[in-house]
Amino acid sequence: MDKKMDILKEKLKRTGFKITPQRRAIIEVLLENNHYHLSSEEIYDKVRESCPEIGLATVYRTVRILDEVDAISKLNLDDGCIRYELKLDDETGHNHHHLICKKCGKILEVKDDLLDNIEKEIEEEYGFRIKDHDLKFYGYCSECDKTEK
Ligand SMILES: [Zn+2]
Ligand SMILES: [Zn+2]
Ligand SMILES: [Zn+2]
Repeated sequence: MDKKMDILKEKLKRTGFKITPQRRAIIEVLLENNHYHLSSEEIYDKVRESCPEIGLATVYRTVRILDEVDAISKLNLDDGCIRYELKLDDETGHNHHHLICKKCGKILEVKDDLLDNIEKEIEEEYGFRIKDHDLKFYGYCSECDKTEK
């Protein structure tokens, strides 16, 4: 976790983002909960445990700045709330894909990009350099699928 924090700190430093204790606490919450895709309000609830004096406005502002410097990605599940996760540098810097269960709302992550061939074809055919993509699959998780049948 400290190593990820260091990599992220380096990335943020390059963009001129200053890490204050409150911002650090927010980033730590995001790191610890990165697979839970927290909303701003949920980040706020968790960060208050280590940083009781923090305000919701600070969380909103920090999340917005992290988005501006491209350190965070937004996940819109069409449930009226935007969720966030840190973009932890893998080789491609690409987003992973999300599997969203329509019954229990669980979010699973597809670790592999799987789109390399498609991307290559698009880049060749359209002369378009792909930097990222946002892909969501809707369906039923293995547990819900058992009760669906
Ligand atoms: Zn489910
Ligand atoms: Zn995710
Ligand atoms: Zn890709």
